[in-house]
Amino acid sequence: MSFTLAIVGRPNVGKSTLFNRLVGKRLALVDDQPGVTRDLREGEARLGDLRFTVIDTAGLEEATDESLQGRMRKLTERAVDMADICLFLIDARAGVTPTDEVLADILRKRARHVILAANKSEGSAADAGVYEAYGLGLGEPVRLSAEHGEGLNDLYSQLMPVSDEFEKRAAAEAPQTEVLLNEDGEAEDPDAVRTPTAERPMQVAVIGRPNAGKSTLINTILGEDRLLTGPEAGITRDAISLQIDWDGLPVRIFDTAGMRKKARVQDKVEKLSVSDGLRAVKFAEVVVVLLDAAIPFEQQDLRIADLAEREGRAVVVAVNKWDIESEKQQKLRDLREAFERLLPQLRGAPLVTVSAKTGKGLDRLHAAVEKAYDVWNRRVTTAHLNRWLAGMIEAHPPPAPGGRRIKLRYMTQAKTRPPHFVVMCSHPDKLPDSYSRYLINGLRQDFDMPGTPIRLHMRSQS
Ligand code: GDP
Ligand code: GDP
Repeated sequence: MSFTLAIVGRPNVGKSTLFNRLVGKRLALVDDQPGVTRDLREGEARLGDLRFTVIDTAGLEEATDESLQGRMRKLTERAVDMADICLFLIDARAGVTPTDEVLADILRKRARHVILAANKSEGSAADAGVYEAYGLGLGEPVRLSAEHGEGLNDLYSQLMPVSDEFEKRAAAEAPQTEVLLNEDGEAEDPDAVRTPTAERPMQVAVIGRPNAGKSTLINTILGEDRLLTGPEAGITRDAISLQIDWDGLPVRIFDTAGMRKKARVQDKVEKLSVSDGLRAVKFAEVVVVLLDAAIPFEQQDLRIADLAEREGRAVVVAVNKWDIESEKQQKLRDLREAFERLLPQLRGAPLVTVSAKTGKGLDRLHAAVEKAYDVWNRRVTTAHLNRWLAGMIEAHPPPAPGGRRIKLRYMTQAKTRPPHFVVMCSHPDKLPDSYSRYLINGLRQDFDMPGTPIRLHMRSQS
């Protein structure tokens, strides 16, 4: 199952150069195939481990008269309709032109998914054009140089999640079935038809100090038998992970020392070292920071939680061994207060109390993890954001250093996982951090985004 990518853009931005780079020698001209005009080239592209069909609106000349412009528009529309993903190229050296605006408009209205790329962006001469591209409202531009082969990694990281998404959707829409055959080569009864789930599991790491209860938690979620067949003797210090079905949620759980201990690979209780924690955090999409209710927010917990935030992971804080707490109400208040004071950078992250031993609270943990993941992946539309921004500015205008008010002109979400927002503004260097925090807290509250870091960049408009 693969997807179709259309490279669109006005003439001369480098579409063919990129097409040739993606397709290499495997170029196939398909202009004799019915339904495809001779203006659309098609080829099989390879980028990293991705395989996809790429189409290019080749053979256009710079539109000098109406008929040519009309033709370009039609051809672009056709390519857009054929594609799952559109890669919209602009020329970073030339900046955004009126023709680019026209095409951006078509893409916004018609395309299923758009990735914006600023080509010819080798060297600093392209910087202004790259920033201008933000103003198209199509997200953060990928800096590319088709000619020099630069930026393909970034293109890959943009394509990968979308490609995953398409595969997921395709699998859901047209479930492929696998028929189990008996010894005679006949299909067994209809119940033997299986539908494979193509969903990619959510990557979760449970981290915390030794004895916080990580293994107990994973065991409880998993059922002990299945865990013990997982990690085996002889494994290295490298990542150990297991895929499980957590009450209907496909999850790949990552653990280090705890699992090895349970698997009796090592007799000695191994300390969760910072490098173990680091590896776990890098691997994960959602990090569950597991605290021991008796000794919460120890130095090591704080470091790991901070690391998870800096790495941009979704974070859920779980306080374990809640079964042995007697003053639950008071304790919870104390925990919330300590959380706010010691981990202000994780503001908004959910805090849930659990007992790994009895299983109490694990349903709430499940819900918090699922929600944090959802929010981490969320995309807010540009129209929505700009309406919201106008309201925020009205309620609390930005300062006016030296009598000149800083203008926030435009806002867009450039990325997800975690959410990144870009605000185009005058004098971003003069905008105090408190104003950024005001916007971030507002985003978190108004768009209901707990459990994820939010990145906000101020960019000057060139
Ligand atoms: P198309 O009309 O959009 O298909 O554009 P082409 O691929 O034919 O490229 C137009 C011109 O831009 C050619 O002269 C290319 O060599 C040049 N070009 C393409 N990519 C780059 C790039 O990354 N950097 C620079 N500096 N030039 C490029
Ligand atoms: P790890 O080092 O983080 O993997 O911690 P373990 O899962 O090995 O647990 C450390 C100790 O805490 C063990 O003695 C567990 O039985 C105990 N423990 C773990 N979870 C709970 C819990 O929810 N309640 C209570 N009372 N004890 C727990």
